[in-house]
Order: sequence, then structure tokens, then C-alpha cells
Amino acid sequence: MVDETSKDERYKARQQKVKDQVDARVEAAQIEKGIFLIITGNGKGKSTSGFGTIARAVGHGLKCGVGQFIKGTWDCGERNLLEQHSVDFAVMATGFTWDTQNKEADTAAAQATWGECKKMLADDSYDVVLLDEMTYMVTYGYVELDEVIEAISNRPTMQSVIITGRAAHRSLMDMADTVSEVRSIKHAFESGIKARKGIDW
Ligand code: ATP
Ligand code: MG
Repeated sequence: MVDETSKDERYKARQQKVKDQVDARVEAAQIEKGIFLIITGNGKGKSTSGFGTIARAVGHGLKCGVGQFIKGTWDCGERNLLEQHSVDFAVMATGFTWDTQNKEADTAAAQATWGECKKMLADDSYDVVLLDEMTYMVTYGYVELDEVIEAISNRPTMQSVIITGRAAHRSLMDMADTVSEVRSIKHAFESGIKARKGIDW
């Protein structure tokens, strides 16, 4: 009985210490500004996380915009839903090929979408802007890294930006406030399971 009581007290003391530390950190975080978030890595869950954040923001009545690179012509569950909730989409609708023989056409398609995204990044009516699969545009040179850095650096103070995609550029990760890496432990695709509507797109 005595043992149980002291165990209980030790637990309470430990929890109080954790709470004090968390409270102190919450107290210390006083800066009010939009954040730059990057979700990168090889595992599944980057775009769904980005879109989940957009859904969260929409749920609070915030104004959101999404730039979709690469997969613009694909059926997209999040777009089907979020367009009904006044989220603006800039999608790469033309047939983006990844084919070097069509580099000029691909660059033009990427530039057109990036142009729309830049407008969102300069417009303080947008609270959150998601640039889905933007990392590839920089990696493959369809969009200049310096332009992305400039647009994000000069965005309205309260606006948050999310970039998703594999292999985010070091310079972007350096300037981001939050960077998360999704690591693949396994993926259904490796066992021959087909991509599923509502799960994979
Ligand atoms: P999701 O959109 O499901 O969050 P993601 O954005 O993290 O995925 P992408 O690289 O954009 O991943 O790839 C999108 C598609 O590729 C999805 O259909 C997803 O299930 C699939 N995918 C993601 N990671 C892997 C992986 N490690 N192996 C095979 N397929 C993957
Ligand atoms: Mg993705």
C-alpha cells in the first residue's frame, strides 16, 4: 500500500515536471507569423499531409490556395472536395511529360502554374498556400530556385506556405520553419497491390 502511494506520488511529480517544461516552451513561443513547412522524404503521406493541413485551415474559415505540379490532369480526391469549399487551385493541366524531348513544353507548363502560385504568394488574402510536388520543379530546373526563395521570402507575414515532394532542396529546407521527412518502411505497391482511389489519389 505504502509502495503504491509513493509510486503514485513519483508519477505525479514526473508528470508535473513534464507539464512545467511544456508550459515554459509554450510561454516562450510568442512570435505571430505564418510558417514555411516542408514535407519531404520517400515515404507515402506527403501530399495527404499537405492537403490535410489545407482541410484544417478551411475548417477554421481560412482562405487557401493550392498549386499542383505534375499531377494536374489526374483525378484528385482532395481537389474534388476542396474546390467545393472555395479553395483556389492552380493546376498543371497540360500534358506534362518528363520527356526531355519536350523540355520546352514542360517548362512552359511548369512556368504557367508557377506564375499563378506567385500571385497567391503575393496576395495577403491567402492564409495558407500549398505547393504540392513543387520540389521536382526546382530539382529538374523547370522553375528557378532563386525565384522560389524570393517569392516565399517576400510573402505576406501572416501567410503560411507548405511545399511537398521528395528530395527538397537544401536551401529551401534551411529557410523553412518546419521540415518533416516521411520515411518509407514499406509500401503496398511493393507487394503488387494496385494504387487505390481514396487512398493513393
Ligand atoms: P500521398 O499523396 O499518398 O500522400 P506522397 O505525396 O507522399 O503520397 P508521392 O511521391 O507524391 O507521395 O507519390 C504519390 C503516389 O505514389 C501515391 O499513390 C502513393 O501511394 C505512391 N507512393 C508514395 N510513396 C511510395 C513508395 N515509397 N513506394 C511506392 N509508391 C509510393
Ligand atoms: Mg505527393
